[in-house]
Amino acid sequence: MSASVNQNYLKLNESYLFAEIARRIREWQSAHPELSSQLIRMGIGDVTRPLPKTVVDAMVKAAQEMGVAETFRGYGPEQGYDFLKTAIQSYYKKFGVELALDEIFISDGAKSDLGNILDLFDENNTVLVTDPVYPVYVDTNMMSGRKIIYAMSSEENGFLPLPAPEYRADIIYLCSPNNPTGAVYDREGLTKWVRFAQENNAILLFDAAYECFVTGDLPHSIYEIPGARDVAIEFCSFSKKAGFTGTRCGYTIVPDTLKRDGASLNKMWLRRQTTKFNGVSYITQRGAEAVFTESGEREIEENLQYYRDNAAIITETMDRLHIYYTGGKNSPYIWLKCPSDMDSWSFFDKLLNEAYVVGTPGAGFGKSGEKFFRLTAFSTHENTREAMARFEKLVQSMSL
Ligand code: PLP
Repeated sequence: MSASVNQNYLKLNESYLFAEIARRIREWQSAHPELSSQLIRMGIGDVTRPLPKTVVDAMVKAAQEMGVAETFRGYGPEQGYDFLKTAIQSYYKKFGVELALDEIFISDGAKSDLGNILDLFDENNTVLVTDPVYPVYVDTNMMSGRKIIYAMSSEENGFLPLPAPEYRADIIYLCSPNNPTGAVYDREGLTKWVRFAQENNAILLFDAAYECFVTGDLPHSIYEIPGARDVAIEFCSFSKKAGFTGTRCGYTIVPDTLKRDGASLNKMWLRRQTTKFNGVSYITQRGAEAVFTESGEREIEENLQYYRDNAAIITETMDRLHIYYTGGKNSPYIWLKCPSDMDSWSFFDKLLNEAYVVGTPGAGFGKSGEKFFRLTAFSTHENTREAMARFEKLVQSMSL
């Protein structure tokens, strides 16, 4: 007898992208130590604004409660406290979406739930992802050996692929606003995906981690689309909305009405969570609840506006240079076409070597990203302005 490993792990690609970026930066720094202090990182996917004061105050108060016998709390409900679920329920009402409290599951972030949800599905299910893709969708399915098909995006479809007969799959991932492309589906686009899922009895896994950046009439939630309750699970996060990337809190919505093979996915997810998860800390959930208070919302809006202003500095530069891009309007990501038809790693090297600016090569997110590049709005105003001034100078010199 001997324990044998899950062979699927051995087939995973190395998580090459960010390791390779770090390697190239190190190499550049050791070749040019005198320039190191001028390096500007525009590739970061992490937020930089601190937690809002209202959130910190709520967590301090909750921590103090934990130190007093009368208000101490031990294990909480695995699926989250009602006070936070009620706050989320009210937030969804703003988009006209009615949720029952038992449809909302609090988690330690969207990434874990996006991976864990796959426990509910057969390993023979096929999976559709849009390419370029947030790598977690691909890797988590590879770990259980599922077949993955790719819906290619491009300039032609504005990086918003729509259903086609060859995209028939059992599980379909959509991310809107998208990471890495920043592209956002409108109601019409999402309606087509919901209909496609209905026709094929598929499940949509809708990643709304960036919904807080959406403005105007674009949908925040898949449940704004009629019929979505019967086909979709939604994942959301406090990471980008409220700076919780290190604090860790998110939520997943599994409608009561969602069934496959006669089984309720809501009941299955409840069973999964109560067995394998012991909930998010009381202190963190009180902090997340404060996100939805009047002062919390105001402070969060200031932070989001800070990132939006950075995104505007980037998109204005692209507009002046007549560079094609998606995102930046309802998203912290700007996905641009590399100048002079360069491939994304060559442009990465050029930008690093000649402008001392770091971004993320599109090829790291899939085949469709080959000649594209991702910049993020999570830096400071000062660095974003300086990086874009250097970017502009570099691109102008390329066209001389
Ligand atoms: N989904 C997308 C598309 C993301 O880009 C990220 C984080 O960058 C996540 C989910 C993970 O969010 P969380 O911090 O809640 O785990």
